[in-house]
Amino acid sequence: MKIGVLALQGDFAEHIAILKRLKVQTIEVRLPEHLKGLDGLIMPGGESTTIGKLAVAYNLMEPLRAFGQRHAIWGTCAGAIFMSKDVSRNQPLLGLMDITVERNAFGRQVDSFEADLDIPELMQATGTKDSYHAIFIRAPIIESVSGDAKILASVADGRIVAAQQGHLLATSFHPELTSDTRFHEYFLSLAD
Ligand code: GLN
Repeated sequence: MKIGVLALQGDFAEHIAILKRLKVQTIEVRLPEHLKGLDGLIMPGGESTTIGKLAVAYNLMEPLRAFGQRHAIWGTCAGAIFMSKDVSRNQPLLGLMDITVERNAFGRQVDSFEADLDIPELMQATGTKDSYHAIFIRAPIIESVSGDAKILASVADGRIVAAQQGHLLATSFHPELTSDTRFHEYFLSLAD
């Protein structure tokens, strides 16, 4: 199994560190040819406008869309925004998932917070019962989920923070910033 991590901007190094802990071969993806031979791709948190602009500049938009038709992609935070179809702003988006997103949706005064989430699919896939401790940093919410996309997790007030569409995954939080590797394991099961 070989997993790429989009390394244009953001916290790609943290994803790579977790994949290494899980003994998965990884490569930093900056150019279209880096996608060759990969079983899956993670797009990290950071600044979605910057990631989008760099993806356009490096001619990655179409290769990423084509990759996502056949392979697993997981976007965390800014990566989830980049996966979506609509963010009510003009910025480059892959539009791979049938989700709409609101950026920085938890308000400026509460830029960051943590929450324990119940994610039945994750618990079932990893054979565990513990809730998942999620870290949100200037996080988006997934406003709506349509088509084949389904809700994976919501915070207590019902706002959606994780969605899945077949082999495509979007989380508005940052599993790469915790020591809990279950979300990465779950993604690897989609890439397999
Ligand atoms: N607020 C950022 C954006 O809109 C995302 C923040 C993050 O990735 N931690 O792109």
